[in-house]
Amino acid sequence: MKTLLPTSSAGSLPKPSWLAEPEKLWSPWKLQDEELKLGKQDALRVILQEQQTAGIDIVSDGEQTRQHFVTTFIENLDGVDFENKKTIRIRDRYDASVPGVVGPISRTKPVFVDDAKFLRQQTNQPIKWALPGPMTMVDTLYDDYYQDRETLAWEFAKVLNQEAKELEAAGVDIIQFDEPAFNVFLDEVNDWGIAALERAIEGLKCETAVHICYGYGIKANTDWKKTLGSEWRHYEKTFPAIQKSNIDIISLECHNGRVPLEVLEMIRGKKVMVGAIDVSTNDIETPEEVANTLREALKYVDADKLYPCTNCGMAPLSRKVARGKLEALSAGAEIVRKELSALQKSA
Ligand SMILES: [Zn+2]
Repeated sequence: MKTLLPTSSAGSLPKPSWLAEPEKLWSPWKLQDEELKLGKQDALRVILQEQQTAGIDIVSDGEQTRQHFVTTFIENLDGVDFENKKTIRIRDRYDASVPGVVGPISRTKPVFVDDAKFLRQQTNQPIKWALPGPMTMVDTLYDDYYQDRETLAWEFAKVLNQEAKELEAAGVDIIQFDEPAFNVFLDEVNDWGIAALERAIEGLKCETAVHICYGYGIKANTDWKKTLGSEWRHYEKTFPAIQKSNIDIISLECHNGRVPLEVLEMIRGKKVMVGAIDVSTNDIETPEEVANTLREALKYVDADKLYPCTNCGMAPLSRKVARGKLEALSAGAEIVRKELSALQKSA
């Protein structure tokens, strides 16, 4: 990456209102069949253009082609029944109607590869593509077949690896695995979560990232955060093992929360996508607020390894707010870039 402090968003971005109902998670599609297919491609073009206009360096599809960051991938696998959904509790926090595992898991067709090829055709910028992580997948469905979380995670890791290899071949530069569950099931992360993640990235030559956050800005998550006390030290429990892993980039929630940023010292040497945008509020950060978070992170992350990012996905926000936040991220990163280059000149 040539640019210092290359910016990106953590994941989902709002969809146009003609494609899906806005400001809603799991929002149903408004189009069908061929119209839906073309509509998703148009949305992808729009969201790419919005990122480019905002000055984002590493672009993504903003998850325009998926209804949800986990279930859309799961629903495309064999062994999963998505007609008979059941309500389960996700991340010990909220109930959702989810598909279930009813037979051996396999991936008989690519899930996002055509979408990635389409995005690749539209831009020469570096592309990041998000996939759900194995542990978060396990936690987002019911399992009537394997009935063991670790075994199921391993099966998911194998199919994720197949998908990731094809995404890499399609020209994706960074493949990111979303693991919000890594901030909840801390013992399991160390027992098998990171091992499953390493199985998912086996043999990849492109860069790999893991995104670990405190979730979307939905009420269930903001209520949960209120119970976490004055300092959030979840990262501390999993960073030693993550530091030793083969994952290249760690994407974290660092802005407006109660994560003491000194925990970043534990993963020094890794590239860090520092969340400098709060996704749980409609207030748009000022560039100076973004810059402050980045300056604080620079105490623990080497400048050439710091990637300014959002705390999490922005699908539940309005397009206007999300656009403003992307612009603030770019402007904040630019302030700090200038400071760093002035420092270099004076050294
Ligand atoms: Zn997130």
